[in-house]
Amino acid sequence: MVFNVLTIFPEMFKPFWEHGIVRRAIESGIIAGFTTNIRDFAKGRHKVTDDRPYGGGSGMIMKPEPLAAAIRAVRKQVPDSKTVLLSPQGSVFNQNTAREFAQLKGLILVCGRYEGVDERICLNYIDEEISIGDFVLTGGELAAMVLMDAVTRMIPGALGGENAANQDSFAEDRLEHAHYTRPQNFEDEQVPSVLLSGDHQAIDRWRIETALKRTFLKRKDLLLKRPLSTEEKEILRQWCFEIQKIICAESVHGIDALPGDQ
Ligand code: SAM
Repeated sequence: MVFNVLTIFPEMFKPFWEHGIVRRAIESGIIAGFTTNIRDFAKGRHKVTDDRPYGGGSGMIMKPEPLAAAIRAVRKQVPDSKTVLLSPQGSVFNQNTAREFAQLKGLILVCGRYEGVDERICLNYIDEEISIGDFVLTGGELAAMVLMDAVTRMIPGALGGENAANQDSFAEDRLEHAHYTRPQNFEDEQVPSVLLSGDHQAIDRWRIETALKRTFLKRKDLLLKRPLSTEEKEILRQWCFEIQKIICAESVHGIDALPGDQ
């Protein structure tokens, strides 16, 4: 995968390319990361990349000519690239998009600034607009980094262990299970004994159960989106059974008729 970022602030990406998994993926040739300064494609002595909006109003707009020239130039380097504009008006980025993008040969990421880019760029040069959430940033650079980070993790080999990304939150439309590391006792909180048992079947079952519990409590919507596995159904039935027992115990003790509980 070749990432090509078009920006007026290329220096923002230096620390991004040089740390962690992204740096390792570059070193091992899994990804390549380049920045292109849009200003290099601007004409005139002052290399202006923005101008006032037609029709008036506040703010500046990124001029189309430097952007178009920059996109054309980087497309020549990786002709099969997809051109993405980072924009709060795009479809909201998620793990599925990250997985899809990870299959591509190249991504050209266009970072807007000011009030955004001239509409003719969106119409004629952009394959897809992507937002990283319903809020407005000052520029597309941080959004491009978020996207590249998530996409890189999905490329086989980037994380070292091939299965690491398969267990992440959202990989199966459920949040990831709880994690513990040394020490065994931290501020009087113990590591769950099953994780020390060496029983891998029990550990797997515990992981599925904690993942399910977190998803149920924090993101029920994820569970409603897909069919449940046999194991998940079994766990949910067990919970129903336990909950039913609590309700029955309450009615036996007569505490289910509290005021306002009709
Ligand atoms: N005036 C634009 C609007 O209301 O839609 C917002 C422009 S914003 C200040 C400047 C640039 O930041 C955008 O062109 C885009 O590249 C980037 N940006 C801002 N919010 C973003 C988001 N949520 N996701 C992706 N990019 C974003």
